[in-house]
Amino acid sequence: MFMQRAALTAARRLAVAPVARRAFTISLIRREALPTTQAPKIKMLTDVKTADDLLGPGAAPGTVPTDLEQSTGIERLEILGKMEDVDIFDMRPLDASRRGTVEDPIMVRSAGDEQFAGCTGFPVDSHSVIWVGLSKERPVDRCSECGNVYKMNYVGPQDDGHGHHHHHGYEEPKTFADFVKPEYW
Ligand SMILES: [Zn+2]
Repeated sequence: MFMQRAALTAARRLAVAPVARRAFTISLIRREALPTTQAPKIKMLTDVKTADDLLGPGAAPGTVPTDLEQSTGIERLEILGKMEDVDIFDMRPLDASRRGTVEDPIMVRSAGDEQFAGCTGFPVDSHSVIWVGLSKERPVDRCSECGNVYKMNYVGPQDDGHGHHHHHGYEEPKTFADFVKPEYW
């Protein structure tokens, strides 16, 4: 975890540093000339409720925007997460210390509507990678090879219920999980 820790610290510095490719010295001088009251209000990770909260405030007039000021969407969510030590994409390996069961599934964090978990069985690497697809609508599924059960833990922005991506009447295609009787799980 030491490496990950160092990377997060570096990323946090990057998020608040000016974009170095641009005229660096000029942007520094302009920044110093600005009254601090013009600093834009930044919504932090806990303020994010809908996708609309993932818009940066933009830079104050006459300054070069930082990533924190100008980033939007999933990129912004990642930066806000890094500033609070929350790894939005969570590239850490999944819990491989046990077999996931229906009662106690292996949790898979996801910031999006869908997340794939790569299963290699239990013990680890006892079968080749099987991708188990999880979604917000169907957060639990199991590996068709070894039966490991995975469950999505959604950590992304909350839908306000008026989103544009509601498909009324749309039915998820059936998968293996829909046909397995619970007593065989
Ligand atoms: Zn498996």
